[in-house]
Amino acid sequence: MKVEVINTGSELLIGQVINTNIGRLGHELLSLGLTINRQITVPDGEGIRDVIGESIRRSDIILITGGLGPTEDDLTREMVSEHLGAKMTEDQELVDVIRRRIESNGAIMRDINRKQAMVPDVAVVLKNNNGTAPGLYIKPYDKTEGAHIYLLPGPPGELMPIFQDQVLPSIKNALLEREIEVPSCVNTFFSGIGESELASRIDQILCDDKGSFDLGYCIKPGGVVVRCIGDPVIVSNVTKKLRMEFPEHYISNDHASLPALVVDELIKRNESVSFAESCTGGAIASLITDMPGSSNVFNVGFVTYANSAKNEILDVDDNLLNECGAVSEPVVKAMAEGCLERSGANYAVAVSGIAGPTGGTKEKPVGTVFIGIASREKTTFVESYCYRAERVIFKEKVSMTAINLLRKRIIGLL
Ligand code: ATP
Repeated sequence: MKVEVINTGSELLIGQVINTNIGRLGHELLSLGLTINRQITVPDGEGIRDVIGESIRRSDIILITGGLGPTEDDLTREMVSEHLGAKMTEDQELVDVIRRRIESNGAIMRDINRKQAMVPDVAVVLKNNNGTAPGLYIKPYDKTEGAHIYLLPGPPGELMPIFQDQVLPSIKNALLEREIEVPSCVNTFFSGIGESELASRIDQILCDDKGSFDLGYCIKPGGVVVRCIGDPVIVSNVTKKLRMEFPEHYISNDHASLPALVVDELIKRNESVSFAESCTGGAIASLITDMPGSSNVFNVGFVTYANSAKNEILDVDDNLLNECGAVSEPVVKAMAEGCLERSGANYAVAVSGIAGPTGGTKEKPVGTVFIGIASREKTTFVESYCYRAERVIFKEKVSMTAINLLRKRIIGLL
């Protein structure tokens, strides 16, 4: 099945808004084993007139986003209707739905809003629970040359729920009608191993199974996601094989990121974590608080950049700081233990390192970092790493390594 996406919106072409819809649609379509063959962005207004015919000729599924609003330049439904020679009529039920939504926001419905209740006679309405612009679905018939056409609102918060709840099931049905088996798509997240090493080892491991599935690699903060698409039984066997082959690197099939996994693990165990950060400047706490549910597991984060803060807030001995230096095993151990005491959490993570570009020595070059994990009833773990990278990248790498070490401690691997 060939899928084409037409994004409308002049703001997308002048860099005012980044086209995030295309990425999200592409990602969701993978769950049906479909990839987008082509994507076109056209300006507001009549831009779509020039491309709709071509898209119909070469595609089975056409997703059009944007231009369903009430203003003059929102012309998606008009342009598509014109191309198909469809007649548009006002849907009274939709007028009422739109009026209720507008009035519930304390505004009054104006005449221009009635435009959004115009429905081409070849389309069915896709309900929009998050905005006034309903989506429209046009089933295949001779004028669509067999293509399924979906007209969807542009704002991501309106588009995605309609896409997930109504469009994906409709596409799935279209696949089944054509007796195309819906393939499985499993994402396996690995950490602590580079993409090329992982890919070449997987190549060897799976050399006998080649051809029966598709593998793709994607570098994510903290690791690599291996995407496997194909027959459900084969995909299940392949992902099982990968999990067994890389026990020390396998993270999860359900989580797209390390922070998400760690937050879930802590919630499951009803445990909490706190952070004592120096060189990461709060980045670890930020990654954790990006995750929904983090308020249940995250106690407190201390950004103790200066030595005096390490001493005053985390109770790190001044003599230790002077003798060993802030970037050292004993200091990071003391930071982690001080943080555990101060916060009362089940786990404390501490980091101290030299982000550079200056400040390195022969013994401790730029990029050196110590990461410590303290928890109740276990010896504090401290390990040093060296990441020579630009400051922002350095912070990201250190944060992800620290979160991975925390994961290992939580699940008993450390
Ligand atoms: P509405 O009338 O509810 O605004 P619409 O279907 O007319 O719906 P547009 O006017 O095209 O949608 O877009 C509205 C806003 O949605 C844009 O200003 C932009 O902020 C966001 N948006 C539109 N298309 C995209 C896209 N491809 N990626 C990310 N954001 C988008």
